[in-house]
Amino acid sequence: MTDLLLRGGTVVLPGVFGVRGDVAIEDGRIAAIAPEHPGPAREEVDASGLHVLPGAIDAHVHFNEPGRTEWEGWASGTAALAAGGATACVEMPLNAHPPTVDAAALDEKVAAAERAAVVDFALWGGLVPGDLDRLDELAGRGVVGFKAFMCDTGIDDFEAASDEVLGAGMERAAALGLPVAVHAERPQRLTPLEGGDWRAWAASRPVAAELEAIDRALELAEATGCSLHVVHVSTGAGVARVAEARARGVDATCETCPHYLVLAEEDMERLGTAAKCAPPLRPAAERDALWEHLAGGRIALVASDHSPCPPHMKAGDFAGAWGGIAGAQAGLQLLLDEGHHRRRLALAPLAALVTQAPAARFRLPKGRLEPGADADLALVALDDEHVLRAEDLHDRHRANPFAGRTLRGRVVRTLLRGRTVFHDGRVAPEARGRLLVPDRPRGAP
Ligand SMILES: [Zn+2]
Repeated sequence: MTDLLLRGGTVVLPGVFGVRGDVAIEDGRIAAIAPEHPGPAREEVDASGLHVLPGAIDAHVHFNEPGRTEWEGWASGTAALAAGGATACVEMPLNAHPPTVDAAALDEKVAAAERAAVVDFALWGGLVPGDLDRLDELAGRGVVGFKAFMCDTGIDDFEAASDEVLGAGMERAAALGLPVAVHAERPQRLTPLEGGDWRAWAASRPVAAELEAIDRALELAEATGCSLHVVHVSTGAGVARVAEARARGVDATCETCPHYLVLAEEDMERLGTAAKCAPPLRPAAERDALWEHLAGGRIALVASDHSPCPPHMKAGDFAGAWGGIAGAQAGLQLLLDEGHHRRRLALAPLAALVTQAPAARFRLPKGRLEPGADADLALVALDDEHVLRAEDLHDRHRANPFAGRTLRGRVVRTLLRGRTVFHDGRVAPEARGRLLVPDRPRGAP
């Protein structure tokens, strides 16, 4: 018998705005999508007036646990994701301690996540100077790929990768059939801060630093045959470079973040250090260029780069404050508000940027709304206008720069494998999240 029947929602299928129908769920999976399911079911939920989307997958979050749980933790971080319609994430190897650079550290992180995660999770391993055999260990434990920093990370337990380290790491990653993700800013192009205001921060990390780093990473990817993913690209020219390389056969993709899509550098004046991130927010023309690339299919996916810290580390001026934005809860709703309602992008391809696309890029068995798939779903009131209030945030410190913003499109309910994990403003605290590992890499032994 059907466990749960979602009645009369508008089901958003790939390439389709939405078809009215019922979604039947059995044993945590989608059993059927039908115009009118005969039932019966143990439970029915009236989804009329709501859009049914695949649960979002946030491919770039930092949850800091173990080791820096006072910054963020798996319980609070994944609660924020669930409240924002996400049912899975891919978590980064740095800002927790120990950093996820070998099997022992990865095991510690998996244990912490399994104790507390409300949604499913996959993990990035770290590519740092040192023994490359650690990449094999991490691959054996199921990481989706390896993350490297081309400049200083701002945290002393995760070292930047020189070109030499990056090249050698890419060679090994290519042999393992896994991608390398890079934070692309060329250290030689970063300049010392001249002052503590937002203009000084923006000036110290120019567009050229991003573009040069992307060029270098693309050269290395081409030379090694490694699959490359450039995280949080902040400029139109950065996206264009990745797209050009892709067109000539380099296996390269990029992501951008909601903050680069809805904020611009002058917003730092109003928002203060809550909007400090690296690369920094850019002039409005870059934001518009990113939207053009997004509409043109040149940005593979959108991810939050949720990177919180305790409030005292966000206090003070732009010189001293932590450079991360806490956006885990807002991603999907910001895309719906700005992308669908304001910029008139079609709903299905827009939603795909946070559902099918990250799943496909990192070979995760998620993001599909079809019979047989996990019943990971977000129910959205697409036209609902509401204010994202700080008190409605679930991340540890509620330092989200989007708090106070009026958003059209609200996540009403989130289901993970058929169970409601978020509804009516409340997150079910049970730790049901599971480790996701990528499908077997191509060419893996
Ligand atoms: Zn990050």
